[in-house]
Amino acid sequence: LSERLGGVFDRLTKQGALSEEDVATALREVRVALLEADVSLPVARDFVKAVQEKATGQAVTKSITPGQQVVKIVHDALIDVLKGEGEPGALKIDNPPAPILMVGLQGSGKTTTTAKLAKRLTDRDGKRVLMASLDVNRPAAMEQLAILGMQIGVDTLPIVKGEDPVAIAKRAKTQAGLGGYDVYMLDTAGRLHIDEELIAQAAAVRDVANPRETLLVVDGLTGQDAVNVATEFDDKIGVSGVVLTRMDGDGRGGAALSMRAVTGKPIKFVGLGEKMDAIETFEPERIAGRILGMGDIVALVEKAQETLEIEQTERMMKRMTKGQFNMNDLKMQLEQMLKMGGMEGMMGMMPGMGKMAKQVEAAGFDDSILKRQIALIQSMTKKERANPALLQASRKKRIAAGAGLEVSELNKLLKMQRQMGDMMKKMGRMGKGGMLKQAMK
Ligand code: GDP
Ligand code: MG
Repeated sequence: LSERLGGVFDRLTKQGALSEEDVATALREVRVALLEADVSLPVARDFVKAVQEKATGQAVTKSITPGQQVVKIVHDALIDVLKGEGEPGALKIDNPPAPILMVGLQGSGKTTTTAKLAKRLTDRDGKRVLMASLDVNRPAAMEQLAILGMQIGVDTLPIVKGEDPVAIAKRAKTQAGLGGYDVYMLDTAGRLHIDEELIAQAAAVRDVANPRETLLVVDGLTGQDAVNVATEFDDKIGVSGVVLTRMDGDGRGGAALSMRAVTGKPIKFVGLGEKMDAIETFEPERIAGRILGMGDIVALVEKAQETLEIEQTERMMKRMTKGQFNMNDLKMQLEQMLKMGGMEGMMGMMPGMGKMAKQVEAAGFDDSILKRQIALIQSMTKKERANPALLQASRKKRIAAGAGLEVSELNKLLKMQRQMGDMMKKMGRMGKGGMLKQAMK
C-alpha cells in the first residue's frame, strides 16, 4: 500500500500551495488505505471530505511533495478523530467500592480484559479489586476467571451454582462493600451476536450495580462489525468507554476510527496479547500510523518543516549581524514570537534581550499587540517594508487605516524597529555575530 501511495505522490511534485487536484489525487489513495484498514465506508467518506476542505490551499513545505503533505494532514486529522476527551487510560473509580461492568460479544476478550485491568489496577494503582463472573451460559467461564484471579493474585467472588447474573451482581456488590474493596468488576456473558436476551440481561445487571464504568470490549480484528456492535450496546446499555482487543494481530485498527467517529465513545485501552500484562493505554498516534501505514512519510514531513524554520531563522540572523533589520525581519520575528509563546519565550532565548523584553512588557505588550503589529506591517508596501525611513505622515495614515489602527500604534512599531535595528548593529560589531550565533544554539 505504501508503495502504491508513494508512486502517486512521486507524480505530484509541484511546489507551492496544494491545488484541489493534488489533494483529490492523494485523497483517493488515502480513502483506499482507510477502507483496507477496515474503516467503514461512511466514516471513510466523511473523513476524506473533511480533510479535503482543510488541505486545499495549504502551503507545501519545501523539499516534500504535495502528496506527502496531504498524508501529514490526514495523519493529524486521524489523531484528532481518535482522541477522545479526558485521559485515555483513566477510569472513574472513586467512591469505593466502584463497580465496573464489562460487556461485549462472546470471544471478544471480556474475561481476559477483566483480569488484565484488575491486575493493572492492583499493581499500578494499588487498588483492592474483586472480580465476579456473571457468565452462567458456559460451564467453564466462571472457572476461567477464578483461575486467572489466582494467577494474578486478585480475589474472585466464590462460585455459587444455580445463581442468575442479577443475583451474582448483588452478591458481588455486598461482598465488595463488606470486604473493603476499592473496585469490583462484573464480567458478563457474551453471545455470538447481539440478541434481546443478552441485552436484557446486561441491562438488568446494570440496574443493580449502577456501574461507574461500563466498558465495551471489542475485537479489534472485526473491523466494520465493531461499529454496529458498539452502537447497539451503547443505545441499549450505555457505554462509558471501549477496550479494543487483539491489537497485537495484523488488523490495521480501522475499527478504532469507525467507532470513534460513529459512537463518539473514548477508546480507553488496547489489548496486545493473551498475557496478563498485555494491555496498554490507547495511543491515538500509534493507531493513526497503523491505519495509514505511512509513519515514514509523516516523520519526513515533520523534519522538512523543522528544517525550513531553521533555514529562515539563519537567513534572518545573517542579515541582522550585518546590521540590516527592516520591517520584513521584524514581521518574521513577530510571527515567530507568536508561535513560540509570545514575547517572553523569544526574548528569554536571546542573551542581551532581557532588558528590552522588560521595556516591552512594561509598555503593556501581549500577543494581541503582536497580531496588530503584524497587521500594520502587512498594510505597508514592499518598498516601505524594506525601507521604513520612507514613512512620512500621509503614508503612516494610509497604513494605520489599512490595518484599522491608530497612527500612534504605528509610531510605536517604528520605534521598536529602530531600537532593534540599533541593537543588532551593536551586537554585530561586538562579536561579528558571535553572540547571536550563540543564541541560536
Ligand atoms: P470473552 O468470551 O469475551 O470472555 O473472551 P475471552 O476473554 O475468553 O477471550 C477469548 C480468547 O481471546 C482467549 O483465548 C484470549 O486469550 C484471547 N484474547 C483476549 N484478548 C486478547 C488480545 O488482546 N490479544 C490476543 N492475541 N488474544 C486475546
Ligand atoms: Mg468470558
